[in-house]
Amino acid sequence: MSTLFLRTLREDPADAELPGHKLLVRAGYIRRAAPGIYTWLPLGMKVLAKVEGIVREEMERIGSQEVRFPALLPREPYDATGRWTEYGDNLFRLKDRKDADLLLGPTHEEMFCLAVKDMYSSYKDLPLSLFQMQNKYRDEARPRAGILRGREFIMKDAYSFDVDSTGLQKAYDGFREAYIRIFNRLGFEYVIVQADSGAMGGSASEEFLAVNENGEDTFVRDEHGYAANVEAVVVPQAAPVEVTAGSAHVEDTPDTPTIETLVNALNANHPRADGRSWTGADTLKNVIVMLHHPDGTREPLAIGLPGDREVDPKRLETQVAPAEVEAFEGKDFAAYPMLAKGYIGPGALGESKSSAIRYLLDPLVAEGSAWVTGADEHGKHVLDLVHGRDFTADGTIQAAELREGDLSPDGNGTLTLARGIEMGHIFQLGTKYAEALGLKVLDEQGKLVTVTMGSYGVGVTRAVGVVAEDNNDQAGLVWPREIAPADVHIVVASKDSAAFVKADEVVRELEARGVETIYDDRPKVSPGVKFKDAELIGVPTIVVVGKGLANGVIEIKDRRSGHRREVPVDHAVDEIA
Ligand code: ATP
Ligand code: MG
Ligand code: MG
Ligand code: MG
Repeated sequence: MSTLFLRTLREDPADAELPGHKLLVRAGYIRRAAPGIYTWLPLGMKVLAKVEGIVREEMERIGSQEVRFPALLPREPYDATGRWTEYGDNLFRLKDRKDADLLLGPTHEEMFCLAVKDMYSSYKDLPLSLFQMQNKYRDEARPRAGILRGREFIMKDAYSFDVDSTGLQKAYDGFREAYIRIFNRLGFEYVIVQADSGAMGGSASEEFLAVNENGEDTFVRDEHGYAANVEAVVVPQAAPVEVTAGSAHVEDTPDTPTIETLVNALNANHPRADGRSWTGADTLKNVIVMLHHPDGTREPLAIGLPGDREVDPKRLETQVAPAEVEAFEGKDFAAYPMLAKGYIGPGALGESKSSAIRYLLDPLVAEGSAWVTGADEHGKHVLDLVHGRDFTADGTIQAAELREGDLSPDGNGTLTLARGIEMGHIFQLGTKYAEALGLKVLDEQGKLVTVTMGSYGVGVTRAVGVVAEDNNDQAGLVWPREIAPADVHIVVASKDSAAFVKADEVVRELEARGVETIYDDRPKVSPGVKFKDAELIGVPTIVVVGKGLANGVIEIKDRRSGHRREVPVDHAVDEIA
């Protein structure tokens, strides 16, 4: 420590709110360079390398190969997939001296897809799985809690390539297992939740959320193991019914309409295909808007109503009335992610759903390629839209109305709500990117088939932040051994040169046995300051070589439990290692 590039701070940084963030700065792991942009100091680098090591090991265990793509990227591939514009303000865009557009990569589906397209052409080349650990750039609207939400951060991103969906499923399952191992080793409480596919497009997707009350994600779970990000509470549509404007209109309902009245209207006018009758929340989550395509095909757009709770007549009306939607003229629905997916939003969203439908349809209506039939009580589609409450610019719908105690989507459980921090995200992308960029291979019959992809991310720097949030006390950080910057922190608490000689010896022997050490050999720093620094830095074992040496003992302290014991100096190394 006499030479370590480190200056611990006694005061909390002014911009920090969460304990882990404060301590990472105070203990000299990271330093803020600009909002959402952090420098990693030597102690931080040690922890980061260990987290990266765990992630790398588990990636290699499932046969993924490490590569590194550039972070500075050309615009064209991102134009081809629409993400140059879709990403909006979150994308860092820049120009080179020739005025060509570049971007700083927020995620790398396009580049991986193109590399595989360049190098591979046959089904025999697949399956393939690649990963990288690399800086990502996103101009986050609200960088937060230091490295938890940075504008520059390290992500482990991986991509799988397969000829068919069976292959993709296998790759996905492999990554899921690898992620379980990674997050078990990192040692924080997490849940695996069904996730919204957001701006990525595609189908199956799950998130690994660290359970944390300061998290920005809200998830629900029930007593039967169901868990989902509230953004993704979608009910499977087993037997969709078509509801046209009026069929369950407010006219069908008595003065104080409840969900029951809509159930009755449905049972009267729209018997279920499977012969069961509509009941409760289960019923209402199956109200469907049909999109009519020009070629005569139809696509379901789910709307639902909140659980079994009373709603006022006006709300019921606005939810049910815009119930038939027609579109024509070969509109490219892929441009509207939520439409392309065939549904709008969570089954229990309530009011915001009709707003969201309106939001998503507005562009279609404005350009004359769709119109909305169905009306509210004034014969018009008038709705109260609030940006940020009902929808966001990327089409994400806010789950403003999901409540503790709601029925879970299958109707068999009761939901509880909790907060989490997204640590990992696994995703069956399907052919979306491969199609946009023309990644095809010859199959066994010599026919060209589009490759199907998965993408899999881990927030590596965010993981360091989450471990720090979960492992600290009044005195400082308390690292789990597997990712601590060292195993043992040796403090010389004496001016006596014999103490330094003994401590040198202990350090050398520990290092020889592969035990990593931090050695506080600072000659002019008081024992009190050294102890404080040791607690703040948070290495699991603290060894004090000081007064006890006169009686032939040194002290070993467990940082987490605070338990101390004295051991004979001759056995010290065996005891510590
Ligand atoms: P979030 O919902 O927290 O914004 P995301 O869904 O945008 O995350 P992905 O695109 O799924 O993130 O990226 C994969 C992983 O990268 C995330 O699961 C998360 O752990 C990490 N990550 C994403 N954004 C950031 C960020 N700004 N800072 C640190 N880590 C991040
Ligand atoms: Mg994000
Ligand atoms: Mg997310
Ligand atoms: Mg995500």
